Parts: sequence; C-alpha cells; structure tokens
Amino acid sequence: MDRQLTHRGAARSVTALAAMLAHEIKNPLSGIRGAAQLLEQSVEDADRELTQLICEEADRIVKLVDRMEVFSDERPVARSPVNIHVVLEHVKKLAQSGFARKIKFIEDYDPSLPPVHANKDQLVQVVLNLVKNAAEAIDGEADGEITMTTGFKPGVRLSVPGSSSRVSLPIEVCIKDSGPGVAPDLLPYLFDPFVTTKTSGTGLGLALVAKIVGDHGGIVECESQNKRTVFRILLPMYRSDSEAKRLQP
Ligand code: ADP
Ligand code: MG
Repeated sequence: MDRQLTHRGAARSVTALAAMLAHEIKNPLSGIRGAAQLLEQSVEDADRELTQLICEEADRIVKLVDRMEVFSDERPVARSPVNIHVVLEHVKKLAQSGFARKIKFIEDYDPSLPPVHANKDQLVQVVLNLVKNAAEAIDGEADGEITMTTGFKPGVRLSVPGSSSRVSLPIEVCIKDSGPGVAPDLLPYLFDPFVTTKTSGTGLGLALVAKIVGDHGGIVECESQNKRTVFRILLPMYRSDSEAKRLQP
C-alpha cells in the first residue's frame, strides 16, 4: 500500500521554540560548566573524573544547542537563479566519494529546465540530507539504487516569499531509493524534529529539509512503499520581474 505525506511550509512554531530553548539553555549551561571547572581545582583526584564528566556532557549539550540554533535561524538568505542539475551533480559527487560509494546513481534530468529561485548552499543541504537518508535506507543492498529526476510540474503555482516575482511555476526534483520504505507509523511525523529510527541519528535532517523548502515557498512530499521511496520537492522557477508580472493573477 502507498504511504504518502505532504509538507507545506516551515514548522514556524517549532523553529520559534527551538530558538527560545537554545537561548534559554545556554546561560545556565555555561554556569554549570564554569562551576564544574572551579570545583575541579579543589576536589580529590578520585572525584576529578566526575567533574570532567560534567564538563564533557555540558560541551555535548552546547553542540546540540548550536545545531538547534542553525535550525531555527530565521534571518533572510540571498536567493538567485540556481541550476538544479549543478546541485544534484555536486551532491552525487560528494556521496560517491564518501557515504554512498557502492550505490548506483541514475539520473533522469530535463536539460531544458530554467533555473530555480533559491539559495544554492541551502539546496545542497536539502539534496544531501535526502541522498544520505536514501543511502542509509539502502544500507548495503547489493543492487541499491538512487534515482534523481527533474522536470516541470504544470498546473501548480507557488508563491515566492520576499520576492517581487510573487508567483512562479514549480520545478520538480525527485530523489527516489530502492530501500525498504518509511515505517508506516513514522510517516505522519516524518518532517518533525528529533524523529529518528537510527541509533546515532539526530532526527533533524528532514526537519531541516522541510524548513528550507518551506522558506523557499516550495513543497516537499514523501511517498513510500517497499523498494520505492520518493521524496518530491517543488521549487519556484526563477523568473525575471517582468516575466513574473505577466503571471500575476
Ligand atoms: P535521521 O537521518 O537523523 O534519523 P532524518 O530527519 O533525516 O533523521 O530522518 C528521520 C527518519 O525518517 C529516519 O530515521 C528514517 O527512519 C526515516 N527516513 C528518512 N528517509 C528515509 C528513506 N529514504 N527511506 C526510509 N526511511 C527514511
Ligand atoms: Mg537523516
């Protein structure tokens, strides 16, 4: 049976909460760390291990909070015309030289596509997260495949936040894998932060994907079944202001 979830827009309340938590946690945490360091100078040798443990664990929380701050950063980013195929090929190269050495990549690109209106670094992050998840889902399957597809998605219009070109036609980017599929119980929460089935996962990858795509005025959805999981992203096509005006309703 097909399992499907569509995510429209960023989880604003979650990012606001993350920003607030990050801010609120850092002050008392540096107090705890400072106190443990002071204590370290006066405790017996036998107890020094404990004060060091407090410092190490405090450092671990600081790292997590730093990641949360990146996630909840609401500052506007620069967007320009981006060739989506350059982004896909860049991520493929990264994957093939690192975490996805043995995986077969299949490309089905529409070479006539115009650029998307996006921040290139953020798009790399989006595609990298999806390809990494796909590779982890395939996990050593002898005939594991990742298929990357691009094309037009007629019939849908996206609004572009913070841009004078308010509406745009979407460009579709699909990352498909031949893994076992998303666990059905997980699907409704797939894009929520801290949702993970991996022992060393953060559960922040797809939350970040949803936030970035939402910030671009795009849509991300997942359709999953055994041997066929597809993450489909719609992104606004880049248009000059004059072209965009002709599109206004
Ligand atoms: P993480 O990778 O750290 O677990 P993500 O937010 O990237 O966090 O993914 C959340 C969860 O969604 C994963 O733990 C996994 O269970 C599921 N998932 C994501 N992508 C896929 C996929 N391509 N196939 C199967 N399950 C997936
Ligand atoms: Mg991940």
